[in-house]
Amino acid sequence: MSSVAQKQLPLRPAGPATVERLLDWYDTERRELPWRRAPGKRAKAYNVWLSEIMLQQTTVKAVIPYYKDFLRRWPTVGKLAKADLDEVLAAWAGLGYYSRARNLHACARMIVDEYGGQFPRAERELRKLPGIGPYTSAAIAAIAFGEKAAPVDGNIERVVSRLFALQLPLPAGKPEIKRYASSLVPADRPGDFAQAMMDLGATVCTPKSPSCLTCPLQIDCHALAKGIAAELPRKAPKAERPVRRAHAFVALREDGDILLRRRPTAGLLGGMLEVPSTDWVAANLAKAKALREAPVTSDWWKVPGTVVHTFTHFRLEMQVYFAVVPTDASLQLWAEPERCKWVNRRKLHGEALPSVMKKIINHALTRHED
Ligand code: SF4
Repeated sequence: MSSVAQKQLPLRPAGPATVERLLDWYDTERRELPWRRAPGKRAKAYNVWLSEIMLQQTTVKAVIPYYKDFLRRWPTVGKLAKADLDEVLAAWAGLGYYSRARNLHACARMIVDEYGGQFPRAERELRKLPGIGPYTSAAIAAIAFGEKAAPVDGNIERVVSRLFALQLPLPAGKPEIKRYASSLVPADRPGDFAQAMMDLGATVCTPKSPSCLTCPLQIDCHALAKGIAAELPRKAPKAERPVRRAHAFVALREDGDILLRRRPTAGLLGGMLEVPSTDWVAANLAKAKALREAPVTSDWWKVPGTVVHTFTHFRLEMQVYFAVVPTDASLQLWAEPERCKWVNRRKLHGEALPSVMKKIINHALTRHED
């Protein structure tokens, strides 16, 4: 990249010619993705919405099978609105950030109940729907409805900050990046422009080593000219993630069922199933106290090692206990039996079980069977 920077390419301000170069590149080099239509054609709002919600915090590769599965189960927003929330959560299991699935379901219902089953076209109207923020509303408006909107995700943030050599660190620099991104959106192909920027960020203008030599925008790029492309966007230093600790209890019944508990609807992993555990707190709970909160009276075995899982705002460190219990084992009252159910270990994949809980169960079962 630096050798390109040293050639002192003639630098022009990014504008309509930049957009044209980017769209030409998109016409031949774009990624083929199941939710996309050919250049110049508008995709269905349902498909754009579904894919964009899934893509938040998740890679394209991980999303594709889930997207196809959702479309197969619920091919329209009306069908999704009629689905059971439990079924939607179970189909979402493994994608993480489960509030997205609950919002997806609530949003489908609102579109049916309040908008006659049609997505609103305007960015401002879309933003009133559950789970749809500034980025997703702009993406749907531009890609599905051809509105002149500028979605700015991490990829686009990077491309724009480099193109204009914007140096204000994130997150304070976000409004400035949004202004510059909006200034480029063309009236005729806003959806293709948004997707072209996403693709450029994902495949060419990558975080650590941008491929400036093959970039269609190299003659427009101020960061390349200044030799600072890989340094942008600048980011304010992150605060360290706090740690929460807990003790989890994997109870395996003699008939092969595992004890699971439904989490409260509101909050983290809301409405999903979990392995019963003590509260997730900063303090270290002593083993004797933790065992008093076991859901079944039994001879609990402390599984060696710790299960660690990183959430957006904290790191969870879980000590795991395991017990084989009789088929008629009765639950302690404080385990809240009405929230608990037994699920056969071979049928766990069909349940709304987050990855962290699968990790805990696997940890207990594999160590026990070693
Ligand atoms: Fe600029 Fe290089 Fe990114 Fe292209 S790949 S936009 S030239 S930094």
